[in-house]
Amino acid sequence: MSNQTAVPSETRSVDATLRERAQRVVPGGMWGHLNAARLPEGYPQFFASAEGCRIRDVDGREYIDFMCSWGPILLGHKHPEVQAAADAQAARGDCLNGPGEVMVELAEDLVGMVPHADWAMFQKNGGDATTACVTIARAGTGRRKILVAKGSYHGALPWCSPSVAGVTTEDRAHLLQFEYNDAESLRAAVAEAGKDLAAILVTAFRHDLGRDLELPIAEFAQAVRLACDNADAALIIDEVRAGVRLDTRGTWEALGVRPDLCAWSKAIANGYALAAVTGNDRFRDPATRIFVTGSFWCSAVAMAAARATLRIARETNVPARIQATGMMLRNGLASLARQHDISVRQSGPPQMPLMLFDDDPEFRKGRAFCAAALRHGAFFHPAHNMFLSAAHQSSDIERALDAASHGFKAARELGVNNR
Ligand code: PMP
Repeated sequence: MSNQTAVPSETRSVDATLRERAQRVVPGGMWGHLNAARLPEGYPQFFASAEGCRIRDVDGREYIDFMCSWGPILLGHKHPEVQAAADAQAARGDCLNGPGEVMVELAEDLVGMVPHADWAMFQKNGGDATTACVTIARAGTGRRKILVAKGSYHGALPWCSPSVAGVTTEDRAHLLQFEYNDAESLRAAVAEAGKDLAAILVTAFRHDLGRDLELPIAEFAQAVRLACDNADAALIIDEVRAGVRLDTRGTWEALGVRPDLCAWSKAIANGYALAAVTGNDRFRDPATRIFVTGSFWCSAVAMAAARATLRIARETNVPARIQATGMMLRNGLASLARQHDISVRQSGPPQMPLMLFDDDPEFRKGRAFCAAALRHGAFFHPAHNMFLSAAHQSSDIERALDAASHGFKAARELGVNNR
């Protein structure tokens, strides 16, 4: 029997009821960073539906969505062409005894789209893809050390989880760290790895939680490539979060730097569960030799969705379109911040923006901003990079800016009350 004060059921929201039920049957009510308790007051835990750039929670409140399911929604929720491709495949079959024709077609698409890619393999989650890249690099070089940037996220598996709970030192025994965008610290880590360097694993840009985002500096990207070439090690780019949204060829292509192996997921299938590893011919043989599999890795529906998503992304230049709406949001937020006389820092590519408030070490202003904006219909995040989709139109940005003005007012009031 619970001792909790009973709240009359007619006044309790569906979300609150579901949270209470979840507490009983799901550890903590929800695991990981998706636990809404980590978000500002008022954020829903449970969602009912979504379309285009709008999501609805289980209580029927609708928001303009700036998280896009934390990345996967590239073209907008329930994009009709992606849905049609997925539905057509589902009518034929999804989870069969092996892959369908669509796997070969999708691999051909990726090899055609991504300049470094001579081949592709498929998985389900980003962590499957980053882990496969690391395994292929070790199999191909016969070495153990993997260099990773301090604070970068590559998944929730023991070798790369940001938490130490349940993780042993041995799980990460061969990881060495460097500072993103710092060629000097990279050289030091390369020296430490010595003849045992298997790979340098680096995210497409620096998007660590709660700090300003940083695009890769060209000299740093070139230094990473050079270090791998000199040591005969693999350059792995983790495109799980940024891939396709910034550049359909791969984010570092514009810097003139190509990886040997690349991990993709999130945006590649517009919300369908899929991940991919692409690689060059140097790593084809080790990719053949490692043992990888997953019960659902061949699911044909997600692959059909990915083919449609990637075709639309290329043909309609989705990265540039999202960049334009992202710039509109960024300029609008900057102008509102000035109007409210509050200083903020905006960082990252416009397609995946982050706004942090100055003098806000505990994100109190950021959280007040988000909570008020949410009440006015915009779903922002106070500390994690956000995501725009091709479904956001200028009218949606205008509406979101209106919600943001309430957010700035709340953040400003908090500052005044703190004095
Ligand atoms: N790498 C990066 C850069 C990511 O952002 C994520 C997920 N946020 C992952 C890997 C892991 O992906 P998943 O959660 O799908 O395993």
